[in-house]
Amino acid sequence: MTWSGMRGIAVVPSYVIMQPTTLCNLDCAYCYLPFRAVDRRMPLAVAEAVAASVNPWAAQARRFSVVWHGGEPTSAGRAHLDQLMAPFTGVEHHIQTNATLLDDAWCGWLAGHRVKVGVSVDGPEALTGQRVIRGGRPAYSRIMRGIAALRRHGIPFAALCVVSDPRPGLAADLYAFFLELGCYALGINVEEREGVNRRDTGFDGDAVQAFWAELTGAWRADPRIELREIEWALRYAGAALAGTDDELLPRQVDPIPAIGEDGRVVLLSPELAGFADPRYGDFSSGNVLDRPLDEIVASAARAPTGWIAEYLTGLEACRASCPYFGFCGGAHAANRYFEHGRFDGTQTDHCRNSKIRLLEGVLEYAREH
Ligand code: SF4
Repeated sequence: MTWSGMRGIAVVPSYVIMQPTTLCNLDCAYCYLPFRAVDRRMPLAVAEAVAASVNPWAAQARRFSVVWHGGEPTSAGRAHLDQLMAPFTGVEHHIQTNATLLDDAWCGWLAGHRVKVGVSVDGPEALTGQRVIRGGRPAYSRIMRGIAALRRHGIPFAALCVVSDPRPGLAADLYAFFLELGCYALGINVEEREGVNRRDTGFDGDAVQAFWAELTGAWRADPRIELREIEWALRYAGAALAGTDDELLPRQVDPIPAIGEDGRVVLLSPELAGFADPRYGDFSSGNVLDRPLDEIVASAARAPTGWIAEYLTGLEACRASCPYFGFCGGAHAANRYFEHGRFDGTQTDHCRNSKIRLLEGVLEYAREH
């Protein structure tokens, strides 16, 4: 089968990521961010420059998201976020937060700005143990206090959970925790070797597959939460049976511009921001203070060079060699780089853990039930 999706990079993204500050008030063991202890804040001029391209994109789209992602975006404070959000029109604002600073005042602000909330929490206290404040004390009680504030104010939230030890026996408890937590959606990320996190992620393949199979069973028993990865795998399996699986991948790669606090734009993988390599430079495609964002994206998409061209070569290698391409669409650039030291390789721990074993786990569950 020759998969027809993911050919080249789209000139218009479906969302942008904004880094209002590099600072995070936590110090999680698996964090990939290099400058999380430093409060470098995005100036208003950067937000204005981004909005000049985003507002026309949003006017043409059914939906366009601006995702505020740090550091910890709430560390920037409400007044600063107010300033940075003001230039945007017609967009949906999202915030990805560790929830530890959320209180009644923050909840009033989130509701007033209709911000969609994603909370990073890894499950029950023992599993969230790697989310710690500086000095190493657990952040769990602060996270739960923030989530309680969201619930008190009736603010819907999605949860994002990092699983550091995927294995059988874990998924059912994990899913029960999130049902109780009251999130409307859940994303599961198996820990990735990225950025300054160099921990081994070569987990046992059978254990990872059993984790996903068990999670499928837990979700099927009570599918109240949108469970991103499982629903996506089931959709793919259904399409494969119907012979329509080649239609599922986006036609082109979403450029996902991530705008750093200083205006630098990193495409495709926000995890590359803040890093540099003798061969690839700082991975940025330009700075919105020097050149309009729409031009930066369009020129990288139309005439890719450097690491982006190498990434597209890797994507084609995946298309040519991997039976999972129609489901996966090729690994993120950052996973390739941080695991292989370059962008044109194919299989990574990330794709084995989060794509191949995910799909096999869901199929294993389907075969047995
Ligand atoms: S599963 Fe891995 S090797 Fe296969 S398409 Fe995805 S990234 Fe490429």
